[in-house]
Amino acid sequence: MIIEPKIIKSVCLTAHPEGCEKEVENQIGFVKGQGALEMPKRILIVGCSTGFGLASRITAAFAGGAETLGVSFEKGPSPKRTASPGWYNNRAFDKFSKREGIKSFTIDGDAFSDDVKSQAIHWIKENWGQVDLLVYSLASPVRVDPETGETYRSVLKPIGKSYTAQSVDFMNQTVNDVTIEPADEEEIAPTVKVMGGEDWMRWTSQFKSAGILAEGFRTVSYSYIGPDVTYPVYREGTIGKAKENLENSAAALTTMLKDVHGQAFVSVNKALVTRASSVIPVVPLYMALLFKVMKEKGIHEGCIEQMYRLFKDRLKPGKDVPVDEKGRIRIDDWEMREDVQSAVSDLWDQVTTENVSDLSDIKGFREDYLKLHGFNVDGIDYDKEVDLSAF
Ligand code: NAD
Repeated sequence: MIIEPKIIKSVCLTAHPEGCEKEVENQIGFVKGQGALEMPKRILIVGCSTGFGLASRITAAFAGGAETLGVSFEKGPSPKRTASPGWYNNRAFDKFSKREGIKSFTIDGDAFSDDVKSQAIHWIKENWGQVDLLVYSLASPVRVDPETGETYRSVLKPIGKSYTAQSVDFMNQTVNDVTIEPADEEEIAPTVKVMGGEDWMRWTSQFKSAGILAEGFRTVSYSYIGPDVTYPVYREGTIGKAKENLENSAAALTTMLKDVHGQAFVSVNKALVTRASSVIPVVPLYMALLFKVMKEKGIHEGCIEQMYRLFKDRLKPGKDVPVDEKGRIRIDDWEMREDVQSAVSDLWDQVTTENVSDLSDIKGFREDYLKLHGFNVDGIDYDKEVDLSAF
């Protein structure tokens, strides 16, 4: 089968197994090139297959020398359809880990369910006895509450009033105004239920009950703040309410972890192209402008650079963790620099369909998006037939 990108409404429905594998290898190469890090040695990553979770796992294993357990929810291949990119990434990760003698295991299932939590607890008891670090990096549109069986769906909408702003279609590179209608009251709570801190707390409390938290156990989850221009749809929108809830959960978790002298953190990360972020309205145009400015200033990072810096400079074992006034780790510090934000804001006022390829790095955005799915990766022959059963 010849595999090509099939993109409908900013969602790519295909993935190239060889390209995904090569991208995992490239990320491994990056962290190895940066040098070894001191990290805990038994690490669980929930949401391990793509984006920040995959980058955390690669940093843990290949810079930190950690054994990793990963949890993600991905689609396997069928005779006529490719698997989802995360499915190929997991297989590539496990393959490269095995090659280097680093223990890894991946659970494919719904992290919101108690069944998957039990599977993780069982694996940890059998293989490690205890766990040192939980990275919680889920991005999902839907969650079934394991207690009630009720399904909750998250929405990406402003609150209170509609929001009109320019947005880009990154495949055909057109800039147009979009208007997003505000969320109904009934849409806010479900978004918090899916993307807030409830499930993160559930993982940790079940680990505590199972007695598998190591002394000094830490857990970290990821959040985003961003600039004024995306505030209505992000930070002050439904997803922002969920992120506030997630951030507040960190303090409650630290209290829960007192017995083991543990701590919970939220790290505010940079805006980056991932499967989750590329479907948020308005944000892709901001990212394309941001990348242009940050690349020109020589301070652009991708997920792997961000996660390497997080574990190198912020979350160091046994050391105090530098945080902001609200207790959050800030590795969005370069994105939020005054000079970066004012340059992006100037460009935001000028950008149109005609000049988007000059004023922004829409090309880089598009390339990153294709790479997430294993396309546009150097060294891969895309004209070659791929035997899906080989992956
Ligand atoms: P992503 O889409 O690349 O990764 C999401 C992960 O969650 C995947 O591994 C997927 O398999 C997993 N997942 C989804 N539903 C699941 C389920 N039910 N059970 C098990 N696994 C499931 O997303 P990302 O952008 O890396 O997001 C990770 C976290 O980082 C999110 O909390 C997000 O808000 C945050 N974040 C993202 C950005 C950004 O710009 N991308 C910036 C700051 C913070």
